[in-house]
Amino acid sequence: SMEMEEKNESRILVFVRLRPMSKKEKEVGSRCCVKIVNKKDVYLTEFGNENDYLRLKRLKGRHFTFDASIPDSSTQYEVYTTTTAELVEAVLQGRNGSVFCYGATGAGKTHTMLGTIDNPGVMVLAIKDLFAKIRQRSFDGNHVVHLSYLEVYNETVRDLLSPGRPLVLREDKQGIAAAGLTQYRAYSTDEVMALLQRGNQNRTTEPTRANETSSRSHAILQVVVEYRVKDVSMNVINRVGKLSLIDLAGSERALATDQRTLRSLEGANINRSLLALSSCINALVERKKHIPYRNSKLTQLLKDSLGGACNTVMIANISPSNVSFGETQNTLHWADRAKEI
Ligand code: ADP
Ligand code: MG
Repeated sequence: SMEMEEKNESRILVFVRLRPMSKKEKEVGSRCCVKIVNKKDVYLTEFGNENDYLRLKRLKGRHFTFDASIPDSSTQYEVYTTTTAELVEAVLQGRNGSVFCYGATGAGKTHTMLGTIDNPGVMVLAIKDLFAKIRQRSFDGNHVVHLSYLEVYNETVRDLLSPGRPLVLREDKQGIAAAGLTQYRAYSTDEVMALLQRGNQNRTTEPTRANETSSRSHAILQVVVEYRVKDVSMNVINRVGKLSLIDLAGSERALATDQRTLRSLEGANINRSLLALSSCINALVERKKHIPYRNSKLTQLLKDSLGGACNTVMIANISPSNVSFGETQNTLHWADRAKEI
C-alpha cells in the first residue's frame, strides 16, 4: 500500500538558518552578504549591495534554494516547527529520525540545537513538544522517555551525562550501542534544560582555550520513546521511536579536503566523523545500496537513525558577515549536495 511504501522511504530535508550579525562583526564594519527571499532562496551578495537577483541567479555559487531558508529574524520556536516538529510526531509512531546542525564554528549550531536557558533551542523544544503530545494521547501513562547525551571527539565516544572513561561501541541484536551509556529517564521538560546545559559543559575543550568547546566535538542527544499498542487481534506490542539531535563539529576544516579519501586523512588533523557523515549523506542522496556507516564513530552510532525508514533533517547554519563569505559559500554548497535530486 501507499502507506507501506512511504514508511520504507527515507527523506532528507535541508534547511538554512541565518543568524543575526554579532556585535563583534558589526564592530569590525562587516557588511551583510546573505539575502533570503521568499523563505526559500538564498543569495550571496559579496559586497552586500547587490540586489539584481536575476544576475546572481546566473552566477555560479551565488544562488541556492532549500526546503526552507530561515531568516535572522526567526525565533527558536519557528526554527523548531519548521525543521523538527514533524520528526517528533513520527517518533510517536515508532519511527527514527535525526536532525543535524552543520556549519562553521560561530555560525550558530549550538544556539540552534541547545540555545540558552532563556531561549532554548531545538533539543529542548523537541522534548517539550514530545511531552505535550504524549499528554494529549488517550493512552497516556504508557510512554517511557529516555535520554542519552554523548560526544564524539577525535573518534573517542564519551558520556556527557556521566563523564569518565571513553565508551566502547558494541554491536548487538538491536544495533550498535555505546556500552554503559547513561539512559536518563525523563518525566518532564523542566529538568531537561539544566541536564543538557550541564552535559554541554562536559564537552571537550581545546587545550589552548580552556572555556571554549572544541570546534571538533560532535554532541549527540538521543531521545528514545517506548510505548505499547494493541494490534488488530488485541495483542500488546511494544513500539520504540528514536530521535537523534546532533550538534556537529565545525565544518571549516572538513571541506578543504573533501575530495581526498578517508585513508589519506589518517594522522591529519581532520574530522573523520564529519567526512564519513558526508559520504553517508551522499550515498543516501544517490540512493546507493551500500551506505558506508562503518567509517566513523558518529556514523556507526547513527546507523539506525540515518537512511532506511528514517527521516533526516539538515540545518545549515550561516553567518551574515562578508568576513565569513567563503565559509558560508562552502556550507551552502555542502547543504546543496545533501538535497535529494
Ligand atoms: P557554533 O556552535 O556554530 O560554533 P554558536 O551557536 O556558539 O556557534 O554561536 C556563536 C555566537 O552567536 C554565540 O554567542 C551565540 O549565542 C550567537 N548566536 C548564534 N545564533 C544566534 C541567533 N540566531 N540569534 C542570536 N544569537 C545567536
Ligand atoms: Mg558550538
